[in-house]
Amino acid sequence: MKLAILSRNTKLYSTERLIDAARARGHSVRVLDPLRCYMRIEPGDFALHYKGKPLSGYDAVIPRIGASVTFYGTAVLRQMEMMGVYTPNGSDAILRARDKLRCHQILARQEIGLPRTVFGDNPDDTNDLLAMLGPPPHVIKLNEGTQGTGVILAERASSSRSVIEAFRGLYANFLVQEFIAEAKGADIRCFVVGNRVVAAMRRQAKKGEFRSNLHRGGTAKAVSLSEAEVDTAIRAARVLGLNVAGVDLLRSKRGPLVLEVNSSPGLEGIEGATGEDVAGAIIDFTDAALRRQRQRDQRT
Ligand code: ADP
Ligand code: GLU
Repeated sequence: MKLAILSRNTKLYSTERLIDAARARGHSVRVLDPLRCYMRIEPGDFALHYKGKPLSGYDAVIPRIGASVTFYGTAVLRQMEMMGVYTPNGSDAILRARDKLRCHQILARQEIGLPRTVFGDNPDDTNDLLAMLGPPPHVIKLNEGTQGTGVILAERASSSRSVIEAFRGLYANFLVQEFIAEAKGADIRCFVVGNRVVAAMRRQAKKGEFRSNLHRGGTAKAVSLSEAEVDTAIRAARVLGLNVAGVDLLRSKRGPLVLEVNSSPGLEGIEGATGEDVAGAIIDFTDAALRRQRQRDQRT
């Protein structure tokens, strides 16, 4: 297949691995910086140019769209979808996953486990909002935070209130969750491709820290998953419409709880910890899904 990777940086581990895995399987592959793609929209005609030249003839695209370019990046991806290019993660699915509140609402409706979560706007409602959540400790999360920055543990209701007040003063969006103490500073990253978990790792926070992010000093090891964990990870990706997803779970007394679903999950940590060829799995899935789509198109 003729494959495009939408990524801002050719030198990233994940991008390099996808290029290598595609070439090793005989596919042609080109990395496109989404911010250098520009488009014309006209009834029945979608054109896309890159650095002065038209882009055409691509069979599939693998989006690796960072949080900072979500809006423009998904517009470029949507243009490619309109031009008939196959993508394992559609633009709508990426937007659904990026909005943490929306993502929680969609998962909860499907009865997928989550830490109990509240959010609200008006300072007059803070006391009742926290009452709806239950007793502390609470975890307060900035919506824009990544890699554990903007995730705060408040041991008492009075600290929850002051953190919430401070965030409101900065006009920041946030949500508040029950603290899952029994996770003991560990979370599980499940790497879902299609309807399989192709690799999984357990990330453990360093001593004195509850956030297990590798960027916060956490360490990662391969882990085997329970049936419930596999099922939860696959269902979470599926209800959001993602074929490639990093689903983060906490192990709790009431079973696996989804923390977050990442639509551009990194490959370095997971391949390093597990030794699995995750890039190869993504390329193989994309190739097989493209063939299935072509067969369906021929029949209709
Ligand atoms: P980010 O998207 O910034 O990584 P997360 O929501 O994944 O934010 O939280 C970062 C880390 O904090 C998680 O990996 C987990 O270890 C810990 N954590 C987050 N929420 C909770 C919670 N409700 N209870 C216990 N630990 C949590
Ligand atoms: N962005 C990384 C990923 O999605 C997370 C790294 C971390 O956990 O610190 O895999």
